[in-house]
Amino acid sequence: MSSKAYSGRCNICDGEYSKRAINRHLATCMAKEDVGKADERSAPHLHLRVEAKYIPNYWMNLEVPASLTLHRLDEFLRDTWLECCGHLSEFSIKGENYLSEKIEPGDKGMKYPLRDLLSVGMKADYIYDFGSSTELTIKVLSSRDIIPRKKPVRVLASNLPPDIRCSCGEPAEYICAACDEGAWLCEKCASSHECGDECLLPVVNSPRTGVCGYDGSGGFL
Ligand SMILES: [Zn+2]
Ligand SMILES: [Zn+2]
Ligand SMILES: [Zn+2]
Ligand SMILES: [Zn+2]
Repeated sequence: MSSKAYSGRCNICDGEYSKRAINRHLATCMAKEDVGKADERSAPHLHLRVEAKYIPNYWMNLEVPASLTLHRLDEFLRDTWLECCGHLSEFSIKGENYLSEKIEPGDKGMKYPLRDLLSVGMKADYIYDFGSSTELTIKVLSSRDIIPRKKPVRVLASNLPPDIRCSCGEPAEYICAACDEGAWLCEKCASSHECGDECLLPVVNSPRTGVCGYDGSGGFL
């Protein structure tokens, strides 16, 4: 896959940039952006880079209030990229673990605001599902004081859907969960695929595409 496959779009200027260039681009694009004059409502916001740990195609840059809790960030990651059946998730920051559901006495939950745990330059690891895990890394790139937005989590930029092909060369629409390596299939080849319809999951622009029951619909129920 070419490096172009990792490229994405800046939601501020609508420009297309490579995965590598987007951080620097956003720094300039955000500096030029009109965020209103700082006033007494202004509050610190963090610029986060979120990446799928082992699948370089998938990444996004977010701006969130520093007061956002791990719980709200977890919710956003689930809604956007991850939720299939309500699995357990965990943030790891400086050797401490924060779980979506406490299992044992002494476990830490996710009620903590980001500002208490993270600052510019720091990293967090994140796991969704301890069985068929999807792992992310989250890095704090910068911070600034701006007037809070109505929707607290803002997607500054994210990867374009990777160009995934069926073995026949057509764009893949499905992935077979029963095939060992996870066969990518176009509409036509999917209809004659030997494993049957019930094994086919839709291709979604997410690092969880083809994993567990993930179909991008935002989860169970
Ligand atoms: Zn831009
Ligand atoms: Zn699942
Ligand atoms: Zn199959
Ligand atoms: Zn095909």
